[in-house]
Amino acid sequence: MASTPAGIARLLATPDRIALFLDYDGTLVPFQEDPSRALPGPGLLPLLDRLAVPGRFEVAIVSGRSAEDLRRLLPGRCHLLALHGALYVDPDGRALDRVDLDACRAAVREVAEACARLVASIPGTRMEDKGAALALHTRGCERRDERRAVRRFLDASRGAVPGGLLSILRGSRVIELKPARADKGSAVLWLAKRFGRDWFPVYLGDDRSDEDAFRALQDRGTTIRVGPARRTSHARHRLADPRAVRELLELMASTAGPVG
Ligand SMILES: [Mg+2]
Repeated sequence: MASTPAGIARLLATPDRIALFLDYDGTLVPFQEDPSRALPGPGLLPLLDRLAVPGRFEVAIVSGRSAEDLRRLLPGRCHLLALHGALYVDPDGRALDRVDLDACRAAVREVAEACARLVASIPGTRMEDKGAALALHTRGCERRDERRAVRRFLDASRGAVPGGLLSILRGSRVIELKPARADKGSAVLWLAKRFGRDWFPVYLGDDRSDEDAFRALQDRGTTIRVGPARRTSHARHRLADPRAVRELLELMASTAGPVG
């Protein structure tokens, strides 16, 4: 297992074509109490542009965020797997629903209002309505308030889950009602297949939902968990934090050149 940017960069020097799958929050940028303030910062956008060398790297962002949100944060030419992979947007902006998002939107509408009403009074909570998904962020909460907010969120969402259209996902101080048939593992395999067999997949992520992708890529590609060591992780390698991720991407970009 490698755990330094230089060590991982050395391992990635061999493949000719790398499909780079990147989670956003906690991986590319540090967490913020208010997710709308988790901005890419001045260095990241040019770095991703430098990495987008045709024939050498494909860059895909894999996130629970909505596609609009991701495009606002990262206006460059990345592939987007938004809403945990439920929605794909290609670098030219063409969108493809990978699950029945209209049905999900209708089901989310039914619980969004109740959730907002039940949770809004709890200090530090933040509801995020993403249309086909609904997230409760609790990074700003005292732990006791967080438990109360999560209970109420689960109460309000209970009726929407048994139909099989939506499911509950718990992440790092966020709980979410999201399309049940979307997960980062199947999304990454799907996009890797579109890229083709001569593209070597590399996945970086920090959260529980990223473990689906680590498992999906166990037999091919390279997986890197961002954050403190965790024995239960399925990732092959580890980096400490978004700063180390940035360092790795810099090293990769410095060796990037068109395939001759
Ligand atoms: Mg994350």
